[in-house]
Amino acid sequence: MIDPSLPLVDLHRHLDGNILPETIWQLAQKNDLPIAAKSLEDVKKITQIQDQTSDLLAFLEKLDVGVSMLANYDACYTVAYENMRDAKQSQLDYVELRFSPYYMAQSHKLDMVELIASVIDGVRAGEKDFGVKANVIGILSRTFGVETCMDELQALLKYKSDIIALDLAGDELGFPAELFVDHFMLAKDADWNITVHAGEADGPQSIWNAIYKLGATRIGHGVAAIQDEKLIQYMIDNKIAIESCPTSNYQTATVKDLAKHPMPTFLKKGLLVTLNTDDPAVSNIDLIHEYKVAQDVLGLSASQLKQVQRNGVDAAFLSDSDKQSLLSKKTG
Ligand SMILES: [Zn+2]
Repeated sequence: MIDPSLPLVDLHRHLDGNILPETIWQLAQKNDLPIAAKSLEDVKKITQIQDQTSDLLAFLEKLDVGVSMLANYDACYTVAYENMRDAKQSQLDYVELRFSPYYMAQSHKLDMVELIASVIDGVRAGEKDFGVKANVIGILSRTFGVETCMDELQALLKYKSDIIALDLAGDELGFPAELFVDHFMLAKDADWNITVHAGEADGPQSIWNAIYKLGATRIGHGVAAIQDEKLIQYMIDNKIAIESCPTSNYQTATVKDLAKHPMPTFLKKGLLVTLNTDDPAVSNIDLIHEYKVAQDVLGLSASQLKQVQRNGVDAAFLSDSDKQSLLSKKTG
């Protein structure tokens, strides 16, 4: 299912959506924080999706328990570091970890600038200790509004060279892309890559806007592209990648029936489709599970699965020489 001669790459993974139940339980005890759980098993029950939620916002609520454990900068470092341990345990060769500093900072009123430093330090230390290459993507949480996102952006810009890209996540329906044009202009000035969550809770127009108005070269989820042939063609012609996360799409009810996920059609049409986890701890999955889903539920052939693995390298925010060394590391 996984081709061992190709790198395993996860490009869409929220480190603040991947706070492992074990880490949540430890942080709750260490910092004496209130939590509606009496054991690790309870933590799993309240933080992991059992089957499907009603919509994206209901899904996102599940992330709140983990984030409420971020009482200090040390906890933020730990979460970032544990994400790298998890990347290693999930057999990843390269990971792009994204996070929203405002979202992480808000429950304990932490300073965003200091928080970002802790997260970057945790990722870098983990990269070294676990031998998995990583890059960091900053997120603007659109749900908190235009002004908060500008504060969030200014904090991220202080670490311009430690961050590879900017993303927009959260309530896609309530806070459309056009509200954030100024933010993404600044991101372009900073030479960051741009990926945007679009076509998950809203239609194909939201993807057009992410591309045209925000300059996205990758689209998070992009499920709604299936409704717009012109858009699909545009994305193929301009090599705009889709970061597919099938289990997450099922759990947020973006896709009601997992077997009807558009990923196979995207691939057949020639889109640069990648396979990713989104929030693995909340979804209770890892990337190999997603490859299994792609094979068993979505019906991808062995050669399609290989293509998806290759696409992950192709669409990564890495230089050509870094992509090459990632590939040659596997083939030896
Ligand atoms: Zn996401």
